[in-house]
Amino acid sequence: MKPLDSILSAIKNHGHLNRRLWLSYCSALAATPILGQSVSGSIVSQPKFGSDPFLLGVASGEPTPSGVVLWTRLAPKPLEPHGGMPRDLIEVSWVISEEESLGKIVKQGKALATPQLGHSVHIEVDGLKPGHWYYFQFRAGDAKSKVGRTRTMPALESLPSQLKFGFASCQHYEQGYFTAYEHMLKDSPDMVIHLGDYLYEGKGKEKLVRKHIGNEIDSLDDYRIRHSQYRLDPHLNQMHAACPWLVTWDDHEFDNNCAGSISEEKNVDPVNFLKRRANAYQAYYEMMPLRKRSLPQGPDMTLYRTSKFGRLAEFYVLDTRQYRTDQPNNDQSSPLNAAASHPSNSMLGSQQGRWLKSELVQSQSQWNCLAQQVMMGVNNVSRDESEKYSMDQWPGYLSERADLLSFMETRQVPNPVVITGDIHTNWVNDLRVDDRDSNQAVVATEFVGTSITSGGNGQAVSPFHDILKSRNPGLKYFNNQRGYVICTVTPETWRSDYRVMESVTSPQSKVSTAASFVIENGKPGASKA
Ligand code: FE
Ligand code: CA
Repeated sequence: MKPLDSILSAIKNHGHLNRRLWLSYCSALAATPILGQSVSGSIVSQPKFGSDPFLLGVASGEPTPSGVVLWTRLAPKPLEPHGGMPRDLIEVSWVISEEESLGKIVKQGKALATPQLGHSVHIEVDGLKPGHWYYFQFRAGDAKSKVGRTRTMPALESLPSQLKFGFASCQHYEQGYFTAYEHMLKDSPDMVIHLGDYLYEGKGKEKLVRKHIGNEIDSLDDYRIRHSQYRLDPHLNQMHAACPWLVTWDDHEFDNNCAGSISEEKNVDPVNFLKRRANAYQAYYEMMPLRKRSLPQGPDMTLYRTSKFGRLAEFYVLDTRQYRTDQPNNDQSSPLNAAASHPSNSMLGSQQGRWLKSELVQSQSQWNCLAQQVMMGVNNVSRDESEKYSMDQWPGYLSERADLLSFMETRQVPNPVVITGDIHTNWVNDLRVDDRDSNQAVVATEFVGTSITSGGNGQAVSPFHDILKSRNPGLKYFNNQRGYVICTVTPETWRSDYRVMESVTSPQSKVSTAASFVIENGKPGASKA
């Protein structure tokens, strides 16, 4: 066995970095020139900027009953390396108020934006009132950011009468305009959940709606510039400023169909792949309103976590990319064969899997929502008589999936719901331990939301719809348009409205509700509203 092969098989067997791969990663990283440079070390408390340093806007996220993360990043030239910033530490001040005019300040402070983290700022505010809207602003020198709006979560023991949130995924910049966010903003959600493919890593292509800057991204600067290009979209930028977000990634924030430290391409050196992952993860951390607990450590970054909206809803935000074993059957759509149902296949990895179960058994929430990436419904997607299931989705990790569903069933986890992105189409799936057996009880419902733009304009009535429905007993709905989902959750019902765009290739477009589905408290399964 060659050294590379033995490293790969070690990762496949264990699903995490082994010591040998870690050491070779570290020695490779020491040779990376950027880390050898030192910062000038001076603190600039009254910086002067030639142009607006707040072009990337503001954002907030990770709300709790007493606090939230406030985010910005200084970059007067966001599409240039280092965002047009000097190599200095820059003092940034912030204020938060209950009034949009910022009249009465309830908390304020100062922070240093450092070049190591791309002059991003992540403020963890605490001591706020539960269930409250707030307004916030940053300043650096004479420059002021726009005023952002955010919200704390209700008190942990309370049972709020309603939560309204939007969820989204898959926003390929080149394939359309982010007009969906303009409409989501008008729907006034309390919170947004992003389920991954926030950006795409591919090189700029001609003849699409808009063009990526540069080649396939690899370096830290590449990832930073790609994030900046996306965040300069006015609708995305505005939605981040309007309410708190919970974010998780899928594959394209790093590389298509990655599995742990394994590339979809053959003969990619896992050490180089992990160096690239460290760049991708750091740029993601820098751009998102995340807490310090998510700071990357080398090529690793902890993103799975829970978030509670009082006792009404608890979200289990999952990471099904970083710890997964390689896709079985060479990642080709396949029948549910022995490779797909092999008990060692894992989407979550053992640590996250144990954590999830332990959180689920402790839940005191009415609705328990897995916010995750790839479809959990085991759907045969073949268009002919053959059997084809996606090996990049949960059908490639069949025994772990069955174990999780039977755990939720036997432990009587209240009202489990799954929200999903990744496949650029809308689906509603009632989930069973074995989805192919309609005699089994329904355990949970999955709402798969379509893409913001990826795939371009779709069609409302798909010729594929009837074939899919006839084969898959859990499938309640399929639609191939772009858009997002608005969920309205009360103690009695969970309602999902599938909001679809007339077009994503023209900068102005109407939105409409293609379908709405409702789950009633205590009665697993969705029905059309
Ligand atoms: Fe995608
Ligand atoms: Ca994906």
